Amino acid sequence: MRCPACGSIEDKVLETRTTANGTAMRRRRECLNCGFRFTSYERIEDKPITVIKKNGDIQPFDISKIERSLRVCTDKRNITQEQIDNLVQDIEESIRIQSGAKHEISSTAIGEEILRHLYKIDSVAYVRFASVYRQFNNLEQFIQEIENLAKQAK
Ligand SMILES: [Zn+2]
Repeated sequence: MRCPACGSIEDKVLETRTTANGTAMRRRRECLNCGFRFTSYERIEDKPITVIKKNGDIQPFDISKIERSLRVCTDKRNITQEQIDNLVQDIEESIRIQSGAKHEISSTAIGEEILRHLYKIDSVAYVRFASVYRQFNNLEQFIQEIENLAKQAK
């Protein structure tokens, strides 16, 4: 796997774990060139999930948007990279389960799922997410808004 920090492809696996629901393997890796640690996931190729927005529009589910919003919400909180990785993984698994045989889920259900998981981890991050999310119909708008807030806070 290519190191996200230096681009080297030489790494070693430090730890291999199966996620809680057994749908993915998670590997902690260390770059042999620069020592940077990162995580890779291996999973069965799934049908893509469709997100149905409040206004009826549909779009493909994209976990990286959720990850981005979580990073912003947890900024300056005492939350490790590993906790964020686990959180993203847990949320994705819940969303996959909820999307069911049709592989469809509403954007509202996704937002509620993120809130449910964040609540267990950090109350400040939860409030940051909740206070902004509830006003918006989609994650892009939300991410934009919360990034603005984060900039103002600096
Ligand atoms: Zn490296």
